Amino acid sequence: MTFPPQHTLSFDVEEWFQVANHAHACPRESWDGLESRVELAMGRILDLLRRREARATFFFLGWIAERHPDLVRRVIDGGHEVASHGYDHRFLQELDPAALHEDLERTELALAAAGAPRPRGFRASTFTLTRRTWWAFDVLVERGYRYDSSVHPIRHPDYGVPGFEPGISTIETEAGDLVEFPVSTYPLLGRNWPVGGGGYFRLLPGVVHRALFASLERMGRPTATYLHPWEVDPDQPRVEAPLSKRFRHRVGLGSTLAKLEAFLERFPSVTMEELLASRGDLA
Ligand SMILES: [Zn+2]
Repeated sequence: MTFPPQHTLSFDVEEWFQVANHAHACPRESWDGLESRVELAMGRILDLLRRREARATFFFLGWIAERHPDLVRRVIDGGHEVASHGYDHRFLQELDPAALHEDLERTELALAAAGAPRPRGFRASTFTLTRRTWWAFDVLVERGYRYDSSVHPIRHPDYGVPGFEPGISTIETEAGDLVEFPVSTYPLLGRNWPVGGGGYFRLLPGVVHRALFASLERMGRPTATYLHPWEVDPDQPRVEAPLSKRFRHRVGLGSTLAKLEAFLERFPSVTMEELLASRGDLA
């Protein structure tokens, strides 16, 4: 592995039925009655990371940490980082500062009860940290978070902050500073393309995806790739949705693990905290 490390891998730890695209068919009240598949999928991911000697950041929903504290412990035992994805996947625009404090506290308590150290990193549900919800940075600093990975510097109908710095940057708030480490994008034709997410990971041929990351590496830009446990679970139940959403959810599910293995072979990954600390960004 090169030093300082240049590549990070992260997972948003949630169930197949907690995806925003499935909200219409799987409302929160139904969650406890649906088939849990997160342990199975996480087992596959943790095995692969152990085999490749890679480390990753796991942004846990508090809801998951409460029901699967053993998963939190397995992540810690594997040498990975535990971070926060909020309690039950609410969009930031559904909350106000007081409600976000409560949501984060509930998640921190669930993580602590499972034996995790206090999380230093946060990722909002569905990249809902936008100009509209910029106040969330103040809340994160007030609660002691050191970095965030919720801003997506792209143009998208539901989220994103087009024109935002796509590399690592500092956000200044009244309460202090916070590091922003956005998911990787690739600059092409005057736009940033969201290549760091699981959708592109599954959609693009592995050789093309790896060429884009090799190019980011040559630009000297630290990378952030993220996936969800359900993306390595082709046998998850099918959910009724418009064809485009169904395609986006299911494309390439059967080959994600093999692709991830090839990716890690070429781009050894560390946790987000580790990469930021190696650059002195968390000092
Ligand atoms: Zn999520």
